[in-house]
Amino acid sequence: MYRLKTAVLTTKHAKEQVIAPLFAEVLGMAVIVHAADTDQLGTFTGTIPRLGSMQETVIAKAKMGLEATGLPFGIASEGAFGPHPSNPFIAADTEMMVFIDQERDFTVIESLISTDTNYNPELKTDMRAHQNPQRMKVIAQLCQKLVHRLTCLCPACGLPGFGFLEYKSGLPCESCRAPTDLIAKEIHGCVKCDYQKAILNEKFHETAPMQYCVYCNP
Ligand SMILES: [Zn+2]
Ligand SMILES: [Zn+2]
Repeated sequence: MYRLKTAVLTTKHAKEQVIAPLFAEVLGMAVIVHAADTDQLGTFTGTIPRLGSMQETVIAKAKMGLEATGLPFGIASEGAFGPHPSNPFIAADTEMMVFIDQERDFTVIESLISTDTNYNPELKTDMRAHQNPQRMKVIAQLCQKLVHRLTCLCPACGLPGFGFLEYKSGLPCESCRAPTDLIAKEIHGCVKCDYQKAILNEKFHETAPMQYCVYCNP
C-alpha cells in the first residue's frame, strides 16, 4: 500500500535512525526528515502525561512536516517522562507515535509505556532521543508496533491501520457468572469506518476468581 511512497518525519533529534529502517523494511516506504524546532509545542517531563495533550502535540508535529514538504504522509513521535501511571515509585517513559495519511484521510496513533528508562529528575538525565540510546530503543519498539498496524487492513473497508481500540471489562465470575471489573476481551477497530471486532486474547482468563466478584465476595 505504501511501497515506493515517501513519508516525512518531523524531528530534530535524529529519530530517523530507528524509524526510517523499519518503515523501509516493513512497508517499503522511504522516510525523509523535516528538522523543525518542535520545542515550542511543549515538553512533557516530570509529570504523569495527559494522553490527550500528548496526542494534540504529536499530531501538530507531524503536520509541520506535511505543510513544509507538501507530502501526504507524515510521522512524528513524542515522549513523556515521569512516574509510572499505575506505580508512582517507578519511572516510566511514555512514548506516542502518529502516522497521518492525507490521501486516505486518516490518522493512526500508537503508544507504549516502558519502565526501561534512565529518566531521573535529580540527575537531570538528557532525554533527547539522540542523546539517550535507551529512549531510542523504546522509540524503535513503538515504531515496530506502528508499522505492523499499518500492514493490518480493515476487513470492512480495506484501509490500513486496523487494530487495538480498547479493553472491555466484564469477565464472568467463576462461581456465579456475574460480570466483574476484570478484562474480558479487547476491541479492535478501523481508523475510519465503524467496523469493530472483539478479540478474545489467550492472555486473558475465561473466568474471574471469586475474589473479584461483588456478589460472591462483597
Ligand atoms: Zn474500515
Ligand atoms: Zn460471583
